Amino acid sequence: AVTVGVLALQGDVREHLAALAAQGATAVPVRRPEELAAVDGLVLPGGESTTIAKLAVRFGLMEPLRAAVRAGLPVYGSCAGMVLLADRLVGAPEGQETIGGLDVTVRRNAFGRQVDSFESTVRLGADTVPAVFIRAPWVESAGPAVEVLGRVVGGVGDGRIVAVRQGHLLATSFHPELTGDRRVHTLFVDMVEQAVRSAPARRSGAVAG
Ligand code: GLN
Repeated sequence: AVTVGVLALQGDVREHLAALAAQGATAVPVRRPEELAAVDGLVLPGGESTTIAKLAVRFGLMEPLRAAVRAGLPVYGSCAGMVLLADRLVGAPEGQETIGGLDVTVRRNAFGRQVDSFESTVRLGADTVPAVFIRAPWVESAGPAVEVLGRVVGGVGDGRIVAVRQGHLLATSFHPELTGDRRVHTLFVDMVEQAVRSAPARRSGAVAG
């Protein structure tokens, strides 16, 4: 099985660990650079992106995270994780740091402050899936290398981009770890498996001999 980490500084870590394990991955929390170096893929969970970024800097993880993204590590960011993967932010505090890598402009708390948490429907490729949004961002604009995977259908934010992929990077505004729908985690574990197949030396086991 592939080993998929969940950045475990703050946020809904346990739900992602469970969703990844249900896909047959070995799911492990990541808090230290050595732990990051040992995974085949990484999930950035929902939570508070400002807090996660500050903790990542304090724990000496910010630069290793950026290096891992540059090196091609598959990373999936959900909600706050989408904010963390964005190259550009709007509606964020001045100077909020991100890991970056995804050529998108992301608007924080995009659905409005009054809309704290709600369920909606997202069109994901040919499928329509239920989605949970919690003070969620959306993708305001995306560069040419970014594939739009999902948009809100109806209601608040109708038509807004809420799922994207750019090569080894995947991001959703919503929280698939909180619904029974495993499509996003299935896709991400597939991405990790494919990356391991095409570059097996990346794997910690292979490197350690
Ligand atoms: N509003 C949060 C942020 O920008 C994200 C909320 C969430 O992850 N549920 O960090």
